[in-house]
Amino acid sequence: MSGPRGRNESAWLLTPRGAFPSALREGMRRFEDEDEVDVVIVGAGAGGSTVLQRLSRRGWKAVALDAGPFWDPEEDWVSDEAGSHQLYWTEPRQIGGSDPVPLGSNNSGRGVGGSMVHYAGYTPRFHPSDFHTFTEDGVGADWPLSYDELKPYYEQIEAELPVAGEDWPWGDPHSYPHRPHPVGGNGEIFLRGAAAAGITAKVGPVAITNGRFGHRPHCIYRGFCLQGCKVNAKASPLITHIPDALAHGGEVRPDSTVTRIEVDERTGRASGVHYVRDGRLRFQRARIVVVAGYSIETPRLLLNSSSNRFPRGLCNDFDQVGRYLMVQGAPQTAGRFDEEIRMFKAPPPEVSTEEFYETDPSKPYQRGFSIQTVSPLPITWAEHVMAQGHWGRDLRNYMSDYVHWSVLGALCEFLPQPENRVTLAEQKDRNGMPVAHFSYSQGANDRQLVAAATGVMERILKAAGADEVITINRYAHLVGGARMAATEQDGVVDAFGRSFAVPNLFIADGSILPTQGSANPALTIMALAARIADRLAAAPEPAKSSSPDAASASGALRR
Ligand SMILES: Cc1cc2nc3c(=O)[nH]c(=O)nc-3n(C[C@H](O)[C@H](O)[C@H](O)COP(=O)(O)OP(=O)(O)OC[C@H]3O[C@@H](n4cnc5c(N)ncnc54)[C@H](O)[C@@H]3O)c2cc1C
Ligand code: SF4
Repeated sequence: MSGPRGRNESAWLLTPRGAFPSALREGMRRFEDEDEVDVVIVGAGAGGSTVLQRLSRRGWKAVALDAGPFWDPEEDWVSDEAGSHQLYWTEPRQIGGSDPVPLGSNNSGRGVGGSMVHYAGYTPRFHPSDFHTFTEDGVGADWPLSYDELKPYYEQIEAELPVAGEDWPWGDPHSYPHRPHPVGGNGEIFLRGAAAAGITAKVGPVAITNGRFGHRPHCIYRGFCLQGCKVNAKASPLITHIPDALAHGGEVRPDSTVTRIEVDERTGRASGVHYVRDGRLRFQRARIVVVAGYSIETPRLLLNSSSNRFPRGLCNDFDQVGRYLMVQGAPQTAGRFDEEIRMFKAPPPEVSTEEFYETDPSKPYQRGFSIQTVSPLPITWAEHVMAQGHWGRDLRNYMSDYVHWSVLGALCEFLPQPENRVTLAEQKDRNGMPVAHFSYSQGANDRQLVAAATGVMERILKAAGADEVITINRYAHLVGGARMAATEQDGVVDAFGRSFAVPNLFIADGSILPTQGSANPALTIMALAARIADRLAAAPEPAKSSSPDAASASGALRR
């Protein structure tokens, strides 16, 4: 079978109604801790699920351990903002720095499917320039791989999710497998305002089915994408990659929190992972370990896996673990219109522009931003209004006016800084593991980008006819913390996710990104994971001289 189905049958393995088949879950293969599996994967989110699916298909004995539950969308998810808190990573974490980043619902998820269970669903590619910002713009870092090396994997994942959108004119111009969705009130405002302001805006790209895909149904435009799509129209690995993994003999072990990676001091190789399940500490043996716990939990786990050989934390000989953690500046600007917008009546991800993505030599700042519709539901809208200082009667007025508002959001490319990092705190969690401390401070370029993006959003909304605009500042997305690099002095893993320090330890999640562009990261994380899985399947062991040669072939990472 050719096409995406030949690679990944997940959408056809769902029930004819599009539900997750209980038989697949109950009948999945189960390994014993004593079995030496070919690969144990820490985390079944965007990166981990992709690796599990790809390697299960190749006949590997593969198991993914996830700290959270194995969700059943029909039973566990509700179309209700307040009822969706279980989807977020709410374990204790500490934050600091001069611009601390609030952690929780807006940046990390917990459970099979990972953060993509409650992500918005935008799936843009990174631009070719993202892979060499240092060479091109003198800021950020060059990746040890190029856009062209990742492009075939972008195409694979876009077909498997699948992604819907207009032909994309920015970055490397390309088209999408599904046609663009019709837009709701907020999307219409964006398109109208952008046209009036002379800015190009396009519909998409979103990983939401436009038409039936396998047994997944068409989106019904009910607007609960950030609460976990009960309909299974919005893509998350839970429905796009896990079914195929289970059908090919992979195991997903939920409610299993990995606390430590074991490295055999004699061989220098990872031998498996310690994890807590049902209150009991267990050990899963494995030939290869892949970590995919996302940007805070991955460095935390590495730092907690210290040993005689790695006294400062696993793979941390060069003090790189936890560093260069990034968020995007994500101001949101709301505009009020006399007409009813009813922004809740559509998926929040509808329309975007990448016209301001690249460095503009006429501006005082480097790199750029994108703008997208965001369409908060009422509780999030109340938070937006309260952040502006409105309270009491004033807040009530804004709330009863909700249907007249349109909200846009920007993603500003905040630059990687070594001091923006995860370390281990004194405080311990319920498993006795030190909690992560995440310190974050903005730079001058970051602040300039936020001001510029806010100005453009106000321009679009006013051009569409808004009579009042209000803006709040916030952050979105996490990436970095165990970045890929050409040399071990500059990062934790190589261009194929293999750690420099331990030959059978890989990282395949958002933590390996050296820069973040102004794009939402999930598609890039899945594409990188698919590439890592391909490499693993082709060559599980490194060639003797792989790291230095790969480094010189791709050009040294600079910062
Ligand atoms: C509200 C929200 C909206 C977003 N919107 C978008 C969007 O529109 N487009 C986009 O591209 N991105 C979006 N994102 C970001 C995107 O979802 C993440 O970047 C992506 O899912 C990260 O992939 P990952 O594999 O690194 O980690 P995750 O997908 O978060 O997966 C990590 C998994 O590891 C598990 N885990 C962590 N630690 C351990 C441990 N010690 N033991 C066992 N398991 C562990 C977690 O439970 C989790 O399931 C959004 C995120 C959020 C929260
Ligand atoms: S709007 Fe579409 S994708 Fe979003 S939750 Fe509803 S059905 Fe799912």
